[in-house]
Amino acid sequence: MNIVVVGAHQDDMEVNCSGTLLKYRQKGDVNITIVVISNGDKGFQHKPSVPYEEATRIRNAEATRVADALGGRYICLGQPDEYMQDTPEARNQVVDILREAKADVVFTLPPQDYNADHMVASEITFQAVMLAPVTTIFTDHEPLKMTPVMYYMDSAVATGFEPSHYVDITDVWEQKCDLLRMHVSQMDNAKFFGDLDLVELSQIVGAYRGMQSRVKYAECFRPAPWPRARAGNVLP
Ligand SMILES: [Zn+2]
Repeated sequence: MNIVVVGAHQDDMEVNCSGTLLKYRQKGDVNITIVVISNGDKGFQHKPSVPYEEATRIRNAEATRVADALGGRYICLGQPDEYMQDTPEARNQVVDILREAKADVVFTLPPQDYNADHMVASEITFQAVMLAPVTTIFTDHEPLKMTPVMYYMDSAVATGFEPSHYVDITDVWEQKCDLLRMHVSQMDNAKFFGDLDLVELSQIVGAYRGMQSRVKYAECFRPAPWPRARAGNVLP
């Protein structure tokens, strides 16, 4: 199964989808592609003296380490952090990645979230998934035979997101925490910005979603509408 996750920032996937990727990996043969649309250069609020270029370098290195640990690959599209835009170029970049990866399943951020970049990433992905099989959209790779299945992942702190599907991540919880800690800079940045580091935040959200689904820790999702939805459940 070919899985593509599209986020806005270098730690978005890790907070609300990395447990699910670990479960897919546990179940068998998967190819994982992690796409981040922004360059992450505003993510050093705890150390504002760090130049933007250096922030981007560090955050891409952290995200690459996580992708390596998941046996996947990491692609950064390099848009300006906090000023991301849905452009024809951005849509086609994601279309081409979906085609090259032969995506079966795509995860992205929810349409409503605390950060406009998250909503822009969601919108770009929503359109790119629908366009990936369209034969009149030309990119470097051949159109897909079928629209990939698409799921929205949870909002950053579970605000305003109504899930329909839950994945039990209890047995990979410690591994998920290890992935989150690989974002060394963002552990500190999250604490500075929102009083909780990435593990503390994910622990609260994971336990809350776990409570709703009668397990210790869960991640949750909602399918995107036709033609992106499919009968049955492809989640692990
Ligand atoms: Zn983000």
